[in-house]
Order: sequence, then C-alpha cells, then structure tokens
Amino acid sequence: HAKADGRGTYCFFRDEMARSVEARRILELDLRRALANDEFELYYQPLVNLKTGRITTCEALLRWNHPMRGTVSPIDIIPVAEEMGLIVDLGRWILRRACMECMRWPDGVSVAVNFSSQQFHQRDVIDEVHYALQASGLPAERLEIEITESSLMRNTQWTLDALQQLRSAGVRIALDDFGTGYSSLSYLHNFPLQKVKIDRSFLVGIETHRPLTLLRGVARLSAELGMSVVVEGVETNEQLELIGADGTVTEAQGYLFSRPVPASRIRELLTASHARRQDDGKSRLLPL
Ligand code: C2E
Ligand code: MG
Ligand code: MG
Ligand code: MG
Repeated sequence: HAKADGRGTYCFFRDEMARSVEARRILELDLRRALANDEFELYYQPLVNLKTGRITTCEALLRWNHPMRGTVSPIDIIPVAEEMGLIVDLGRWILRRACMECMRWPDGVSVAVNFSSQQFHQRDVIDEVHYALQASGLPAERLEIEITESSLMRNTQWTLDALQQLRSAGVRIALDDFGTGYSSLSYLHNFPLQKVKIDRSFLVGIETHRPLTLLRGVARLSAELGMSVVVEGVETNEQLELIGADGTVTEAQGYLFSRPVPASRIRELLTASHARRQDDGKSRLLPL
C-alpha cells in the first residue's frame, strides 16, 4: 500500500509541476502576444490635494484585457514580466502611453507612472524618459515616476546619478509603498525624492485600534525633509479626517475619491473637476 501511495503522490506532484511549468510557459507566450496585440490598457486613479480638493495627478495602473480571462491584475503581470525581461518593453509602452494620455488632460494635471526596479536600472532609462516626453510633447514637470524602496537599494551610486538627472530634467520622483519594505529612513534624505507615498497598510484599522503615531511620524519627517506626502488607500471619510487633521499630508489617493478608471472616464472626471474649480475658488473634496 505504502508503495502505491508513494507512487501516487509522486506522480501527482510531477503532474502538478509539469502543469505549472506549462501554465507558466503559456502565460509568458501570452504576455508577449498581448503586447504585440495591444491588449494592455492603462487605468488612471486620481490623487487629490487635501487643501484644495483638486486632482493634482493621476496614477497610471496597468490592466490586461485578456481575450479569455477578462481583466487581469498587474499583480499577476508585473512579476512575470520582470522575470521574463519583458518589463523593459512593457514599461516603455506604459511610459509612452501615459505621457500621451496626460497631454489630453487639463494643464495643471500630472501623470504618475510606476517603474519596476529592473526598468529603472536599465542603462538607457534617462533616454527613454526624454523620448517619451519629446514624442508626446508633455512638459517634464507633468511627469512623476514612482519607484519603490527596492529600486533605491540596488546600485546606489548609479541610482543617485539617475535620480539627479531626472530631477534636473524636471521630472518628479515619488517613493511608492513607503513603509512596506526595508523603509530605511536614510533613503528619505540620501536620495533626491520629491514625494513619499505612504502605503495603505498604515491606514488599516486607524478608525478603531491602530494608533496614528507611526503614520504621523513618517508624514512629518517626510514633510520636514521637504517632500510632499501622499497617503494611499483612503477608503472612508473617517480615515480622511484623521490623516488630514494636522495638515502634514498633502495628497490622498483611494477608493473614497475614485477607483482606477479607464482613460475616457478619467477625462470626464478631470473635466468636471476643472469646470467646478472655475465657478467656485474653493471647491470641496470631490465625491467622484
Ligand atoms: P501601487 O503602485 O501601490 O498602486 C496602488 C494600488 O492600490 C492599485 O492596485 C490601486 O488600484 C490600489 N488601490 C488604490 N486605492 C485603493 C483603496 O482605497 N483600497 C484598496 N484596497 N486598494 C486601493 P493595482 O492597480 O492592482 O496595482 C497593484 C500594483 O501593481 C501597483 O501598486 C504597482 O506596484 C503595480 N503596478 C500597477 N501598474 C503598474 C505599471 O504600469 N508598472 C509597474 N511597474 N507596476 C505597476
Ligand atoms: Mg504606484
Ligand atoms: Mg503605491
Ligand atoms: Mg501600495
């Protein structure tokens, strides 16, 4: 019996493995095909200035309209694209598309583009950014690049040079998901960053049990170092009131304002928010 069971188990695992290797191979082929077939799309989610209630920036978030699987999340795409090395081509497409789309928005609104660490460490990343700006006609001041702590940890001198070049070109750099990785506070003052995005994990439970101390501390430190501070993942009015109370947090982003929406929808939201801004100087926070 034991032998039969053993063999059964062995075969089971071998099949599973073969299946997952096969599934992975299919996914990789599928991703390459998707890029060639134009199956990717960018959704946009607004960042709202807490003082004025205006949309300052929209973050581009990748979606895959898969012919069989429907909409596929970036969580399932980006890591695989990174391992395959496809992220460089995909990232180039994302950057160019986001810059072109931003040109269709009201003048003051910027676009934020997520860069994976691999993409950021490409030798010609600066040329890629210049090219995307030139090809779209977007002023550098309207482009914000979001990088994570892991991008800062690798290859420090190179990273510093790249950030300085982007900065002198006028592009802004935001540190994304702050507080989820190694979160060395030294990053905040050793690198030329203009914005810190505090991860939404800091918000979970602040209405009830989680103390605000940590979030406030990180926010104040970032502000004192001259950076603007964004809190991600704001879902309730209570959370908004708590984070806005001491005036340190500059912007917020989250489902409370809007979920990520397709390009056509974000243009409608921006037009509406822009029109409202003209009839009353101090528009209230948008219930989008
Ligand atoms: P991220 O850059 O931190 O983007 C924010 C994520 O949080 C988005 O998920 C957004 O839909 C979600 N989110 C926003 N507000 C709320 C909220 O109030 N509650 C909750 N529960 N979630 C909220 P999404 O679009 O699934 O993207 C996930 C991650 O995938 C992104 O996290 C980013 O790391 C990565 N990603 C997305 N698009 C790109 C891209 O174009 N390039 C790269 N390299 N990475 C991307
Ligand atoms: Mg981001
Ligand atoms: Mg984020
Ligand atoms: Mg996040």
